[in-house]
Amino acid sequence: MNQLSLVCLLSFMPVLGFSAKWYKGNTHVHTTLCGHADSTPEFVAQWYHDRGYNFLVLSEHNKFIDPSTVKLKGEIRDDFLLLPGEEVTGPVHSTAMNISRLVPWEFKHKDRSKIIQNHVDETRKAGGAVILNHPNFGRPIHSHEILPVKNLYMFELYNSHPGVHSFGNAHRPNLEQVWDALLEKKMTIYGVSSDDAHKLQKWGEKENNPGRGWVMVKSEDLSSEAITKAMLKGDFYSSSGVMLGKLVRGESHIELAVNQDETACELASEFLFGRPVSKGEPGTYIEFIGPGGEVVKSMEGNSGICKVEGAYLRAKVTHRVKKKDGSLREYYAWTQPVFTDGR
Ligand SMILES: [Zn+2]
Ligand SMILES: [Zn+2]
Repeated sequence: MNQLSLVCLLSFMPVLGFSAKWYKGNTHVHTTLCGHADSTPEFVAQWYHDRGYNFLVLSEHNKFIDPSTVKLKGEIRDDFLLLPGEEVTGPVHSTAMNISRLVPWEFKHKDRSKIIQNHVDETRKAGGAVILNHPNFGRPIHSHEILPVKNLYMFELYNSHPGVHSFGNAHRPNLEQVWDALLEKKMTIYGVSSDDAHKLQKWGEKENNPGRGWVMVKSEDLSSEAITKAMLKGDFYSSSGVMLGKLVRGESHIELAVNQDETACELASEFLFGRPVSKGEPGTYIEFIGPGGEVVKSMEGNSGICKVEGAYLRAKVTHRVKKKDGSLREYYAWTQPVFTDGR
C-alpha cells in the first residue's frame, strides 16, 4: 500500500457536536478458522488496524472469536476495537455483533422468515444485534421473506464479495430495490456495507479482498455497545468509496456534503476498484430517494439538501470516474433513511 493512502486514512475523524465522532468499521470478514479463508485472526485484525479502521467484527462461520485472544503487533492504536461477533451460518447467514458468546445456528425450517427470526432472537439472547447478510447469495432472499421478521434492523445492502450479487443480475433484483420494498412496507431497516473478505494473501480485482465496503458510524464512544446502539438507530452511512464531510438526518430533511479529499484518499487505495458500469458521465451525483425507490430529487455536485415529503427519504451519492484504461467505475455512499410516519 502506498504511503499516501495510509496517511489519509489515519487523518480523518471529524468531531461532530460535543463528543460524537465518526468511526470507520467493517462488520464482516473471515479467517483460517473457517477452513476456506487464507489468514489468521491476528493477521486479519492487524490488516484493518494498520489501515486506519476503528473497528472490526471477526465474523467467523459459527465460531465465536473472543477479541481478547487476538493479539496485535507493534504499537496498537487506542482508537481500534475488535467487536465480538460471529456469522451465524445456516440456510441463511447473518452477522451477530456485540455478542457475549456463541450464537446457535442449527435451527432449520422451510420458511426462511422463521430462520432469520431465530437468528435475531438467539443473537438478542446473547446480548447482540443482527445484520442479515448478502440476501442475493445463492437462492435470493425476497423482501416478503424479510418483512415479517421482528427486531431485525440491519441488512447487507452492499457486500463486496464478488459472488454475492449486491447489484443484482438477470435472476436477482438490485438490493436497493429490496431495501425500498421493505421501507415502503413500513419496516425500519438500515443498509450496511461490508467486505466479507476471505483472501488477504492474493490480491486483485476478482479476488475476495478487504477494503472495499465499510460503514461510518457516528457514536459517542468507541465501544462494542455504543457502536451497536448507534447502528441500531441508523446513525451511520455505508460506503464503497465515497466519504461524507457532512450528514444531517433531520426530522424532515436530509442534508449532506461529500468530503472530496477523503474520497480521493479512499479512491487512491490499490484495493478499491469500484463497480464497472457502461454508461454515464464522470462526476458526483446525489439522489434523494423516497417510497418505492422513486428519485424525488437529483443533482450533480458535492452537496445537497432535500425535504422529506413521503413516509421516508434516503440519499445516495454516486461518484463516477473514467479510469486510464477508459473504463467507467462507480463508488457510492448510502445514507440511512429518515422516517416521517412515526415508525
Ligand atoms: Zn455469508
Ligand atoms: Zn461471510
